[in-house]
Amino acid sequence: MASDINEVINEAKVRGKRIFFRDVEYRNWYDYTLVLVNLIEKAKACPALTDKDGKTVVTGFHHKTVLGLADKIIAAVKEGKIRRFFLVGGCDGAKAGRNYYTEIVEKLPRDCVVLTLGCGKYRFNNLDLGDIDGIPRLIDLGQCNNAYSAIQIAAALAGAFNVGVNDLPLTLVLSWFEQKAVAILLTLLSLDIKNMFIGPTLPAFITPNVLKVLQDNYSIRLITTPDEDIKAVLG
Ligand code: SF4
Repeated sequence: MASDINEVINEAKVRGKRIFFRDVEYRNWYDYTLVLVNLIEKAKACPALTDKDGKTVVTGFHHKTVLGLADKIIAAVKEGKIRRFFLVGGCDGAKAGRNYYTEIVEKLPRDCVVLTLGCGKYRFNNLDLGDIDGIPRLIDLGQCNNAYSAIQIAAALAGAFNVGVNDLPLTLVLSWFEQKAVAILLTLLSLDIKNMFIGPTLPAFITPNVLKVLQDNYSIRLITTPDEDIKAVLG
């Protein structure tokens, strides 16, 4: 719903008791008051949601908790039990193409660990990926603001292996949608993180020229298909 609205509406204003939206081409204002009143009345007439039984998902691992497993993680990497970490994180949206993120997580080989954060994780954070020597294969760090935790984990692992973050067996696969994600993407770029995958479509501010700069300087790649991207990373 949100992405559909964003495709047609650019701006909103309230005049008295009436609500107006302007289209993306900045041409016309439309009075949506009646539409919204009807929508609210419809929502109020709907029955209350009922609880559904489901599995329990463990979420919101702080980096201190993950780094409590640092010795185990480092040993598992050195022994070849963990081949690579994939940070699959970012926004969710209603447009087609976002099943990519569920599929790539499902298709990763059993010697890969998935870190996740942000709204996009709700597409796969209920998957049972098992563990590697007691290290969960799916570690949910929380919301997008917890990119801070992901950065702390990457920095700690880079320190432990005495390499730069870009030399870690770590790939970032990002899903784009919201404005806040821009700030996070810019943070990652300012930290000189390279080889990130981004999708399912490019943010509007990434014009062809900006994309070229990002590709030349940060080797940013657009997602393709889960199979092709896994092959590109793991060989
Ligand atoms: S920027 Fe917004 S939509 Fe994207 S992950 Fe954060 S809270 Fe969710």
